[in-house]
Amino acid sequence: MTQKVLTSLLLLLLCGSVAAEPTHKPTTTRRAAAEKQNVKSTPKEPETPAKEPPAKEPPANELFGAVPSPAPLAARAIGSYARGCLAGAVALPINGPDWQVMRLSRNRNWGHPRLLDFLERFAADARNLDGWPGLLVGDMSQPRGGPMITGHSSHQIGLDVDIWLTPMPDRILTPQERENMMAVSMLKDPFTVDPDKWTPLHTKLIKRAASYPEVDRIFVHPAIKKVLCDQAGNDRAWLGKVRPWWNHYYHFHVRVTCPPGASDCEPQKPLSGDDGCGQELSNWFAMLKKTAIAGVGQPATGIPRKSSITMSKLPPECGTVLTAGGFEPPIPVNADNLPQPVLKALASKETGPPPPKLDAAARRALLMSSSEMPVPERNPRR
Ligand SMILES: [Zn+2]
Repeated sequence: MTQKVLTSLLLLLLCGSVAAEPTHKPTTTRRAAAEKQNVKSTPKEPETPAKEPPAKEPPANELFGAVPSPAPLAARAIGSYARGCLAGAVALPINGPDWQVMRLSRNRNWGHPRLLDFLERFAADARNLDGWPGLLVGDMSQPRGGPMITGHSSHQIGLDVDIWLTPMPDRILTPQERENMMAVSMLKDPFTVDPDKWTPLHTKLIKRAASYPEVDRIFVHPAIKKVLCDQAGNDRAWLGKVRPWWNHYYHFHVRVTCPPGASDCEPQKPLSGDDGCGQELSNWFAMLKKTAIAGVGQPATGIPRKSSITMSKLPPECGTVLTAGGFEPPIPVNADNLPQPVLKALASKETGPPPPKLDAAARRALLMSSSEMPVPERNPRR
Protein backbone atom coordinates (compact mmCIF):
# COMPACT_ATOMS: atom_id res chain seq x y z
CA MET A 1 0.00 0.00 0.00
CA THR A 2 2.73 2.49 1.06
CA GLN A 3 4.67 1.33 -1.98
CA LYS A 4 1.73 2.26 -4.21
CA VAL A 5 1.37 5.71 -2.66
CA LEU A 6 5.09 6.34 -3.06
CA THR A 7 5.01 5.26 -6.67
CA SER A 8 2.18 7.66 -7.48
CA LEU A 9 3.96 10.44 -5.61
CA LEU A 10 7.12 9.90 -7.61
CA LEU A 11 5.13 9.76 -10.85
CA LEU A 12 3.41 13.00 -9.91
CA LEU A 13 6.76 14.68 -9.31
CA LEU A 14 8.16 13.36 -12.58
CA CYS A 15 5.09 14.50 -14.53
CA GLY A 16 5.23 17.87 -12.79
CA SER A 17 8.79 18.45 -13.91
CA VAL A 18 7.87 17.31 -17.43
CA ALA A 19 5.10 19.90 -17.62
CA ALA A 20 7.41 22.67 -16.44
CA GLU A 21 10.19 21.96 -18.96
CA PRO A 22 10.42 23.96 -22.16
CA THR A 23 9.07 21.90 -25.01
CA HIS A 24 11.84 21.30 -27.45
CA LYS A 25 12.04 17.54 -27.14
CA PRO A 26 9.20 15.17 -28.03
CA THR A 27 7.10 14.74 -24.91
CA THR A 28 6.40 11.09 -25.60
CA THR A 29 10.10 10.29 -25.47
CA ARG A 30 10.47 12.03 -22.15
CA ARG A 31 7.40 10.38 -20.75
CA ALA A 32 8.57 6.98 -21.90
CA ALA A 33 11.95 7.63 -20.28
CA ALA A 34 10.27 8.68 -17.06
CA GLU A 35 8.15 5.55 -17.00
CA LYS A 36 11.14 3.36 -17.72
CA GLN A 37 13.08 4.99 -14.92
CA ASN A 38 10.16 4.45 -12.63
CA VAL A 39 10.01 0.75 -13.41
CA LYS A 40 13.74 0.23 -12.90
CA SER A 41 14.41 2.08 -9.67
CA THR A 42 12.72 1.49 -6.36
CA PRO A 43 10.86 4.64 -5.44
CA LYS A 44 12.47 6.47 -2.56
CA GLU A 45 10.87 8.96 -0.30
CA PRO A 46 11.57 12.44 -1.67
CA GLU A 47 13.97 14.39 0.56
CA THR A 48 12.06 17.62 0.29
CA PRO A 49 8.37 17.68 1.21
CA ALA A 50 6.10 17.16 -1.80
CA LYS A 51 5.06 20.42 -3.45
CA GLU A 52 1.49 21.24 -4.41
CA PRO A 53 0.44 19.34 -7.52
CA PRO A 54 1.11 21.39 -10.69
CA ALA A 55 -1.75 23.57 -11.96
CA LYS A 56 -3.99 21.69 -14.36
CA GLU A 57 -3.06 22.35 -17.97
CA PRO A 58 -5.96 23.92 -19.90
CA PRO A 59 -7.31 21.85 -22.79
CA ALA A 60 -5.57 22.76 -26.04
CA ASN A 61 -8.91 23.41 -27.79
CA GLU A 62 -9.59 26.35 -25.46
CA LEU A 63 -6.16 27.78 -26.26
CA PHE A 64 -6.26 27.29 -30.03
CA GLY A 65 -9.89 28.40 -30.06
CA ALA A 66 -8.86 31.73 -28.52
CA VAL A 67 -6.41 32.76 -31.25
CA PRO A 68 -7.92 35.23 -33.71
CA SER A 69 -5.14 35.34 -36.31
CA PRO A 70 -2.68 33.00 -38.04
CA ALA A 71 0.88 32.34 -36.85
CA PRO A 72 3.16 34.70 -38.79
CA LEU A 73 5.45 31.89 -39.90
CA ALA A 74 6.06 29.94 -43.10
CA ALA A 75 3.14 27.67 -43.99
CA ARG A 76 3.46 24.29 -42.29
CA ALA A 77 1.00 21.52 -41.49
CA ILE A 78 2.41 20.08 -38.27
CA GLY A 79 1.44 16.69 -36.86
CA SER A 80 -1.50 14.56 -37.93
CA TYR A 81 -4.99 15.51 -39.11
CA ALA A 82 -6.40 14.81 -35.66
CA ARG A 83 -3.43 15.86 -33.50
CA GLY A 84 -1.55 18.90 -34.75
CA CYS A 85 -1.55 22.56 -35.69
CA LEU A 86 -1.01 24.94 -38.58
CA ALA A 87 1.56 27.69 -39.15
CA GLY A 88 1.27 30.39 -41.82
CA ALA A 89 -2.41 29.70 -42.52
CA VAL A 90 -4.24 31.62 -45.23
CA ALA A 91 -7.92 32.62 -45.04
CA LEU A 92 -10.22 31.51 -47.82
CA PRO A 93 -11.96 34.72 -49.00
CA ILE A 94 -15.55 34.60 -47.77
CA ASN A 95 -16.81 35.26 -51.31
CA GLY A 96 -15.16 33.68 -54.31
CA PRO A 97 -16.27 33.43 -57.91
CA ASP A 98 -17.69 29.95 -57.21
CA TRP A 99 -18.01 29.69 -53.44
CA GLN A 100 -19.22 31.36 -50.24
CA VAL A 101 -18.06 30.67 -46.70
CA MET A 102 -20.72 29.83 -44.10
CA ARG A 103 -20.83 30.39 -40.28
CA LEU A 104 -18.38 33.29 -40.36
CA SER A 105 -18.63 33.70 -36.57
CA ARG A 106 -16.59 30.54 -36.11
CA ASN A 107 -13.54 31.97 -37.91
CA ARG A 108 -12.68 28.56 -39.31
CA ASN A 109 -12.05 29.46 -42.95
CA TRP A 110 -8.28 29.01 -42.57
CA GLY A 111 -6.10 26.48 -44.29
CA HIS A 112 -2.72 25.53 -45.64
CA PRO A 113 -2.18 27.17 -49.07
CA ARG A 114 -2.36 23.67 -50.55
CA LEU A 115 -5.99 23.35 -49.39
CA LEU A 116 -6.94 26.79 -50.72
CA ASP A 117 -5.34 26.06 -54.06
CA PHE A 118 -7.36 22.83 -54.30
CA LEU A 119 -10.62 24.49 -53.21
CA GLU A 120 -10.38 27.31 -55.73
CA ARG A 121 -9.75 24.89 -58.60
CA PHE A 122 -12.41 22.46 -57.44
CA ALA A 123 -15.05 25.18 -57.10
CA ALA A 124 -14.29 26.47 -60.63
CA ASP A 125 -14.20 22.99 -62.20
CA ALA A 126 -17.42 21.89 -60.49
CA ARG A 127 -19.18 24.92 -61.91
CA ASN A 128 -17.63 24.95 -65.39
CA LEU A 129 -17.39 21.22 -66.07
CA ASP A 130 -20.31 19.78 -64.08
CA GLY A 131 -22.75 22.66 -63.67
CA TRP A 132 -22.67 22.71 -59.83
CA PRO A 133 -23.71 26.30 -59.01
CA GLY A 134 -20.98 26.94 -56.45
CA LEU A 135 -19.74 25.62 -53.11
CA LEU A 136 -21.01 26.50 -49.67
CA VAL A 137 -17.89 26.06 -47.59
CA GLY A 138 -18.23 24.94 -43.96
CA ASP A 139 -15.47 24.46 -41.42
CA MET A 140 -11.85 24.34 -42.49
CA SER A 141 -9.36 25.05 -39.67
CA GLN A 142 -8.89 27.66 -36.97
CA PRO A 143 -6.30 30.40 -37.67
CA ARG A 144 -3.56 28.26 -36.10
CA GLY A 145 -5.29 24.93 -36.55
CA GLY A 146 -5.27 22.73 -33.48
CA PRO A 147 -8.17 21.00 -31.72
CA MET A 148 -11.57 22.73 -31.70
CA ILE A 149 -14.08 23.37 -28.96
CA THR A 150 -16.97 22.03 -31.08
CA GLY A 151 -17.37 19.75 -34.01
CA HIS A 152 -14.39 17.89 -35.27
CA SER A 153 -11.63 15.68 -34.05
CA SER A 154 -9.67 16.33 -37.25
CA HIS A 155 -9.39 19.63 -39.22
CA GLN A 156 -6.29 20.42 -37.12
CA ILE A 157 -3.56 21.00 -39.71
CA GLY A 158 -5.29 23.05 -42.39
CA LEU A 159 -5.81 20.24 -44.89
CA ASP A 160 -9.49 19.35 -44.20
CA VAL A 161 -12.64 21.10 -45.42
CA ASP A 162 -16.37 20.47 -44.99
CA ILE A 163 -18.47 21.34 -48.02
CA TRP A 164 -22.26 21.49 -47.92
CA LEU A 165 -24.28 19.20 -50.15
CA THR A 166 -26.61 22.18 -50.64
CA PRO A 167 -25.78 24.14 -53.81
CA MET A 168 -24.84 27.80 -53.48
CA PRO A 169 -27.73 30.20 -54.08
CA ASP A 170 -27.43 32.60 -56.99
CA ARG A 171 -26.75 35.66 -54.80
CA ILE A 172 -24.42 36.82 -52.07
CA LEU A 173 -25.72 35.64 -48.69
CA THR A 174 -25.81 38.13 -45.84
CA PRO A 175 -23.67 37.40 -42.75
CA GLN A 176 -26.91 36.67 -40.90
CA GLU A 177 -28.02 34.12 -43.51
CA ARG A 178 -24.63 32.46 -43.28
CA GLU A 179 -25.21 32.01 -39.54
CA ASN A 180 -28.79 30.76 -39.77
CA MET A 181 -29.17 28.89 -43.04
CA MET A 182 -29.34 25.12 -42.55
CA ALA A 183 -27.87 22.56 -44.88
CA VAL A 184 -30.33 19.98 -46.25
CA SER A 185 -30.07 16.36 -45.11
CA MET A 186 -29.73 13.87 -47.93
CA LEU A 187 -31.23 11.06 -45.83
CA LYS A 188 -34.75 9.68 -45.81
CA ASP A 189 -34.07 7.43 -42.82
CA PRO A 190 -30.91 6.25 -41.02
CA PHE A 191 -30.01 3.90 -43.89
CA THR A 192 -31.33 5.49 -47.06
CA VAL A 193 -30.58 8.50 -49.20
CA ASP A 194 -33.69 10.45 -50.15
CA PRO A 195 -34.05 10.14 -53.94
CA ASP A 196 -35.85 13.50 -54.00
CA LYS A 197 -32.81 15.22 -52.51
CA TRP A 198 -29.86 13.38 -54.02
CA THR A 199 -29.36 14.25 -57.68
CA PRO A 200 -26.95 13.04 -60.40
CA LEU A 201 -25.22 16.39 -59.90
CA HIS A 202 -24.33 15.40 -56.32
CA THR A 203 -22.69 12.23 -57.61
CA LYS A 204 -20.74 14.27 -60.18
CA LEU A 205 -19.61 16.69 -57.49
CA ILE A 206 -18.15 13.96 -55.25
CA LYS A 207 -16.54 12.23 -58.22
CA ARG A 208 -15.02 15.53 -59.32
CA ALA A 209 -13.59 16.11 -55.82
CA ALA A 210 -12.08 12.62 -55.83
CA SER A 211 -10.45 13.21 -59.23
CA TYR A 212 -7.63 15.45 -57.93
CA PRO A 213 -4.41 13.63 -57.11
CA GLU A 214 -3.89 15.75 -54.00
CA VAL A 215 -7.23 14.61 -52.56
CA ASP A 216 -6.46 11.85 -50.10
CA ARG A 217 -9.90 10.95 -48.78
CA ILE A 218 -13.49 12.14 -48.85
CA PHE A 219 -15.88 11.32 -45.99
CA VAL A 220 -19.61 10.78 -46.58
CA HIS A 221 -22.42 9.04 -44.70
CA PRO A 222 -22.50 5.27 -45.44
CA ALA A 223 -25.87 5.64 -47.20
CA ILE A 224 -24.31 8.19 -49.55
CA LYS A 225 -21.38 5.88 -50.18
CA LYS A 226 -23.88 3.20 -51.13
CA VAL A 227 -25.56 5.45 -53.68
CA LEU A 228 -22.18 6.33 -55.16
CA CYS A 229 -21.29 2.62 -55.38
CA ASP A 230 -24.61 1.96 -57.13
CA GLN A 231 -24.25 4.84 -59.57
CA ALA A 232 -20.55 4.63 -60.41
CA GLY A 233 -20.84 2.23 -63.34
CA ASN A 234 -17.57 0.91 -64.70
CA ASP A 235 -15.33 3.79 -63.68
CA ARG A 236 -14.78 2.82 -60.03
CA ALA A 237 -11.22 3.73 -59.13
CA TRP A 238 -12.24 7.02 -57.49
CA LEU A 239 -14.65 5.27 -55.09
CA GLY A 240 -11.78 4.02 -52.93
CA LYS A 241 -11.09 7.58 -51.80
CA VAL A 242 -14.69 8.03 -50.64
CA ARG A 243 -14.89 6.69 -47.09
CA PRO A 244 -18.05 6.15 -45.03
CA TRP A 245 -18.16 8.09 -41.78
CA TRP A 246 -20.74 9.30 -39.24
CA ASN A 247 -22.54 12.60 -39.62
CA HIS A 248 -21.63 13.41 -43.19
CA TYR A 249 -25.17 13.43 -44.59
CA TYR A 250 -25.60 17.17 -45.23
CA HIS A 251 -22.00 17.89 -46.05
CA PHE A 252 -18.98 16.00 -47.29
CA HIS A 253 -15.45 16.31 -46.00
CA VAL A 254 -12.44 16.57 -48.27
CA ARG A 255 -8.97 15.84 -46.97
CA VAL A 256 -5.92 16.71 -49.04
CA THR A 257 -2.57 14.95 -48.66
CA CYS A 258 0.42 16.39 -46.84
CA PRO A 259 2.37 18.92 -48.94
CA PRO A 260 5.24 17.24 -50.82
CA GLY A 261 8.40 17.13 -48.71
CA ALA A 262 6.63 18.25 -45.52
CA SER A 263 8.43 15.99 -43.08
CA ASP A 264 6.48 17.18 -40.03
CA CYS A 265 3.09 16.45 -41.62
CA GLU A 266 1.97 12.93 -40.78
CA PRO A 267 0.21 11.22 -43.71
CA GLN A 268 -2.57 8.67 -43.36
CA LYS A 269 -2.10 5.06 -44.32
CA PRO A 270 -2.32 4.60 -48.08
CA LEU A 271 -5.66 3.30 -49.32
CA SER A 272 -6.02 -0.35 -50.19
CA GLY A 273 -7.17 0.23 -53.78
CA ASP A 274 -10.49 -1.51 -53.07
CA ASP A 275 -13.62 0.47 -54.01
CA GLY A 276 -15.03 -0.15 -50.51
CA CYS A 277 -18.44 -1.17 -51.86
CA GLY A 278 -18.36 -4.75 -50.54
CA GLN A 279 -17.69 -6.06 -47.05
CA GLU A 280 -16.64 -2.72 -45.66
CA LEU A 281 -19.93 -1.10 -46.59
CA SER A 282 -21.86 -4.08 -45.19
CA ASN A 283 -20.03 -3.61 -41.90
CA TRP A 284 -21.05 0.03 -41.85
CA PHE A 285 -24.67 -0.86 -42.45
CA ALA A 286 -24.51 -3.33 -39.57
CA MET A 287 -23.27 -0.50 -37.38
CA LEU A 288 -26.02 1.83 -38.60
CA LYS A 289 -28.55 -0.85 -37.74
CA LYS A 290 -27.11 -1.30 -34.28
CA THR A 291 -27.23 2.44 -33.55
CA ALA A 292 -30.75 2.71 -34.96
CA ILE A 293 -31.97 -0.15 -32.75
CA ALA A 294 -30.30 1.38 -29.72
CA GLY A 295 -32.25 4.53 -30.54
CA VAL A 296 -29.21 6.72 -30.26
CA GLY A 297 -28.18 9.20 -32.86
CA GLN A 298 -24.70 9.12 -34.23
CA PRO A 299 -21.96 10.88 -32.27
CA ALA A 300 -23.22 14.46 -32.40
CA THR A 301 -21.04 17.17 -33.83
CA GLY A 302 -22.28 20.28 -32.10
CA ILE A 303 -21.67 19.23 -28.51
CA PRO A 304 -18.75 21.01 -26.86
CA ARG A 305 -15.78 18.76 -26.82
CA LYS A 306 -14.65 17.97 -23.28
CA SER A 307 -11.13 17.47 -24.36
CA SER A 308 -8.28 16.01 -22.42
CA ILE A 309 -5.84 16.97 -25.15
CA THR A 310 -3.39 19.41 -23.65
CA MET A 311 -0.45 21.14 -25.31
CA SER A 312 1.89 18.40 -24.13
CA LYS A 313 -0.03 15.90 -26.28
CA LEU A 314 0.45 17.94 -29.46
CA PRO A 315 3.72 18.11 -31.41
CA PRO A 316 6.14 20.36 -29.46
CA GLU A 317 6.28 22.91 -32.35
CA CYS A 318 2.60 23.64 -31.73
CA GLY A 319 3.63 25.61 -28.62
CA THR A 320 5.64 27.92 -30.88
CA VAL A 321 2.77 28.13 -33.35
CA LEU A 322 0.31 29.05 -30.58
CA THR A 323 2.38 31.93 -29.25
CA ALA A 324 4.09 33.14 -32.48
CA GLY A 325 3.92 36.91 -33.01
CA GLY A 326 3.59 37.48 -29.25
CA PHE A 327 0.12 36.01 -28.81
CA GLU A 328 -0.67 35.12 -25.22
CA PRO A 329 -3.69 32.87 -25.01
CA PRO A 330 -5.97 33.82 -22.12
CA ILE A 331 -6.12 30.91 -19.70
CA PRO A 332 -9.71 30.25 -18.73
CA VAL A 333 -10.31 29.45 -15.09
CA ASN A 334 -13.81 28.10 -15.56
CA ALA A 335 -16.60 27.82 -18.12
CA ASP A 336 -17.77 31.39 -17.41
CA ASN A 337 -14.64 33.14 -18.52
CA LEU A 338 -13.89 31.32 -21.76
CA PRO A 339 -12.23 33.58 -24.35
CA GLN A 340 -14.57 35.52 -26.65
CA PRO A 341 -13.76 33.55 -29.85
CA VAL A 342 -14.44 30.28 -28.02
CA LEU A 343 -17.80 31.58 -26.78
CA LYS A 344 -18.69 32.65 -30.32
CA ALA A 345 -17.89 29.19 -31.69
CA LEU A 346 -19.95 27.61 -28.92
CA ALA A 347 -22.90 29.89 -29.72
CA SER A 348 -22.90 29.24 -33.45
CA LYS A 349 -25.76 27.24 -34.85
CA GLU A 350 -25.32 23.64 -35.99
CA THR A 351 -25.08 23.62 -39.80
CA GLY A 352 -27.53 20.79 -40.49
CA PRO A 353 -30.44 18.85 -39.02
CA PRO A 354 -29.80 16.06 -36.48
CA PRO A 355 -29.38 12.54 -37.88
CA PRO A 356 -32.71 10.80 -38.56
CA LYS A 357 -33.92 8.35 -35.90
CA LEU A 358 -36.41 5.53 -36.05
CA ASP A 359 -39.59 5.60 -33.97
CA ALA A 360 -40.14 2.89 -31.35
CA ALA A 361 -42.23 0.64 -33.64
CA ALA A 362 -39.68 0.76 -36.44
CA ARG A 363 -36.92 -0.04 -33.96
CA ARG A 364 -38.81 -3.06 -32.68
CA ALA A 365 -39.43 -4.28 -36.21
CA LEU A 366 -35.77 -3.87 -37.05
CA LEU A 367 -34.75 -5.73 -33.91
CA MET A 368 -37.02 -8.68 -34.83
CA SER A 369 -35.50 -8.83 -38.29
CA SER A 370 -31.92 -8.72 -37.15
CA SER A 371 -31.23 -11.84 -35.07
CA GLU A 372 -28.60 -12.86 -37.60
CA MET A 373 -26.95 -9.49 -37.63
CA PRO A 374 -23.20 -9.78 -38.25
CA VAL A 375 -20.91 -8.34 -35.62
CA PRO A 376 -19.57 -5.08 -37.01
CA GLU A 377 -15.94 -4.23 -37.21
CA ARG A 378 -15.52 -1.95 -34.20
CA ASN A 379 -13.03 0.44 -35.63
CA PRO A 380 -13.19 0.57 -39.39
CA ARG A 381 -10.22 2.09 -41.14
CA ARG A 382 -10.97 5.70 -42.11
ZN1 LIG B 1 -15.47 17.31 -41.46
